[in-house]
Amino acid sequence: MSDYKLGTRCVQGGYTPGNGEPRQIPIVQSTTFRYATSEDMGKLFDLEASGYFYSRLQNPTNDMVAAKITELEGGTAGMLTSSGQAANFFALFNICECGDHIVASSSIYGGTFNLISVTMAKMGITATFVSPDASEEELDAAFRPNTKAVFGETIANPALTVLDIEKFAKAAHAHGVPLIVDNTFPTPVNCRPFEWGADIVTHSTTKYMDGHGAALGGAIIDHGVFDWMAHAEKFPGLCTPDESYHGITYAEKFGKEGAFITKCTSQLMRDFGSMQSPQNAFILNLGLESLHVRMPKHVENAQAVAEFLYSHPKVAYVNYSGLPTDKYYAVAQKYLPNGGCGVVSFGLKGGREAASIFMRELKLGAIETHVADARTCCLNPATSTHRQMNDEQLKEAGVPAELIRISLGLEDKEDLIADISNALDAI
Ligand SMILES: *Cc1c(COP(=O)(O)O)cnc(C)c1O
Repeated sequence: MSDYKLGTRCVQGGYTPGNGEPRQIPIVQSTTFRYATSEDMGKLFDLEASGYFYSRLQNPTNDMVAAKITELEGGTAGMLTSSGQAANFFALFNICECGDHIVASSSIYGGTFNLISVTMAKMGITATFVSPDASEEELDAAFRPNTKAVFGETIANPALTVLDIEKFAKAAHAHGVPLIVDNTFPTPVNCRPFEWGADIVTHSTTKYMDGHGAALGGAIIDHGVFDWMAHAEKFPGLCTPDESYHGITYAEKFGKEGAFITKCTSQLMRDFGSMQSPQNAFILNLGLESLHVRMPKHVENAQAVAEFLYSHPKVAYVNYSGLPTDKYYAVAQKYLPNGGCGVVSFGLKGGREAASIFMRELKLGAIETHVADARTCCLNPATSTHRQMNDEQLKEAGVPAELIRISLGLEDKEDLIADISNALDAI
């Protein structure tokens, strides 16, 4: 499938039925799998043969969908997880243990910030957060001898900053560690971080990949290029024998292409069990079949709405990297030449009160904590997710009281703009 263009891979990647087999991917609704002899099963447990034995670790439906996303990103191995949160946790915890350190962009999804700064800190894994705009020197200064990974988001949710992937990859590699990029917002249709030096890509498939607000999920994809063995002292989990698997050394047995995902499946899925249900994987695959058709429409709608808002007298500012006035326009032209995503944020001159009137008056855009689905939705963090903060704290957190995040769906842009225009008139 990798010879085909991206759209063809969206539709037909990951699964090619044999003669008389189902055209659509089968949902393997089975927790367990049958074997004729205990020797056969023993080989699976020793990772001597590949095959399925229990859906907490692997399921054929999930693997077909993971294979499609792997083809879309241009990786060598991939896996699905129950959520985007699980994907980011597994991607980091697969190479970081107690006593280790992470360098992360400060401009990331709130859930991931909490995961790294609070929950992983309780596990003894510390982090240094750097601005996505950090200079090479500032990035360099964030590393410590125990740093094991660098983490960032291609387009951050909700700040909409755009990551200079090459700069972050260069810093990571100079310190002998991989760059992990959460590519949820652009999806591989608009950016493939591996082409710019990223080593591991993660996704909340809950967003555009599913695209219909129907199924929670995550994915982890390995580029298969990072040389773990060349930095063996940093990555004992991959480069020394795993006693829970009869002394297998993942980086030796599965090579650069397979070590990361094999370890992540056989250790972390086994022990934490954050598996996506095969039903959800099937729904996710339906979304993937139209991802390349939907993303340009989300971008078209967002660009039109961003331009409309920018020229409206009641709007104080607009954040969208497709606007030539945006701080991230130049970096977006490089990494996102076809546009980024369908999410725009903006501030109203009338502040918090104006934001609440605007959102109340919108008819097509519903108030939701979700983003990136077929239906337009919006959120004012100050009156919802960040409700406990005062105006001062909101400013510090980068979500000033008047800020509205709007996720443009797949409706006709003329209707969306008319709806937004009416809501603005009501202020
Ligand atoms: C939503 C989101 C997550 C978390 O994903 P869930 O599927 O909700 O667990 C992680 N990263 C980004 C960029 C997101 O937008």
